[in-house]
Amino acid sequence: MGIIIDGNKIAQEIRDSIRIEAATLKENKGIIPGLAVIMVGEDPASKVYVARKAKACMEAGFLSRQHKLPADTTEASLLQLINELNADSLIHGILVQLPLPKHISTDRVIAAIDPRKDVDGFHPYNIGSLLTGSPLFVPCTPRGIMEIISRTGISLPGKEAVVVGRSNIVGKPMALLLLAQHATVTICHSKTKDLAAVTSRADILIAAVGKPQMINADMVKKGAVVIDVGVNRLDNDKLVGDVAFAEVAKKASYITPVPGGVGPMTIAMLMKNTLDAATQLP
Ligand code: NDP
Repeated sequence: MGIIIDGNKIAQEIRDSIRIEAATLKENKGIIPGLAVIMVGEDPASKVYVARKAKACMEAGFLSRQHKLPADTTEASLLQLINELNADSLIHGILVQLPLPKHISTDRVIAAIDPRKDVDGFHPYNIGSLLTGSPLFVPCTPRGIMEIISRTGISLPGKEAVVVGRSNIVGKPMALLLLAQHATVTICHSKTKDLAAVTSRADILIAAVGKPQMINADMVKKGAVVIDVGVNRLDNDKLVGDVAFAEVAKKASYITPVPGGVGPMTIAMLMKNTLDAATQLP
């Protein structure tokens, strides 16, 4: 049976140290890290995420501002708000909660955020810089996963890492971070042929698909580190990941559960990125 990684515990440790660092920053330089979160419309999952981010800010001693805009907000007025926040010296991080309503271009909105305040790490400048190895901010979920992997003590150089999923927010940045740590990286997606043959090679397997329990024990190498990013709600309201946890846990050396694995790390890394922004901005 593999070791079950307690994401809640690691995230809490990180948040505790962020709280101390934020207090020191305030005392020494009079700076309070400020995070503005913008939500357009009433998506129920977004509401939950935004509330969690506000709570995390409060606990860390950050300034938290929430801009809840109606679903019919125009792109122009959203861009105007972002411009105001770009110029606001009390705000160090700007996060636009996705998804946005269809009449608004997500790409244009993200590109309008000052890359120095782009604590989600989604701005083309930061994504491009991730490719060359020197981003200002790394997207929170992959950054959290790298933190989890580093705490297992596993050395990455030369290891086979397989990332299932190629989204801009998880799969692609995840693969780049693993590559930067000298793993041999393969990215899989919906057109990958014989997925099981590829995933079975992985020393480190990251599942970021959004399909309940699709990675079963036959797809996993014995002793692999298995990181489950998926969050899927079943008809009975139960939350499960992309990995068939019970059977895969028997084969893996380390495994993250859902819930309580990657999820809590994402918010901890958002706090870390915001603290970094407050420390770095002139
Ligand atoms: P996307 O839907 O943007 O991407 C899913 C990826 O999975 C795509 O690249 C898709 O391939 C690939 N895929 C779909 N079906 C298959 C298949 N049968 N075999 C192989 N690959 C497949 O999702 P996200 O990256 O945004 O999120 C992935 C999951 O992670 C979701 O469950 C989401 O809720 C969760 N998540 C969790 C977070 C957390 O903090 N815990 C944060 C962000 C996401 P293709 O590109 O070819 O379509």
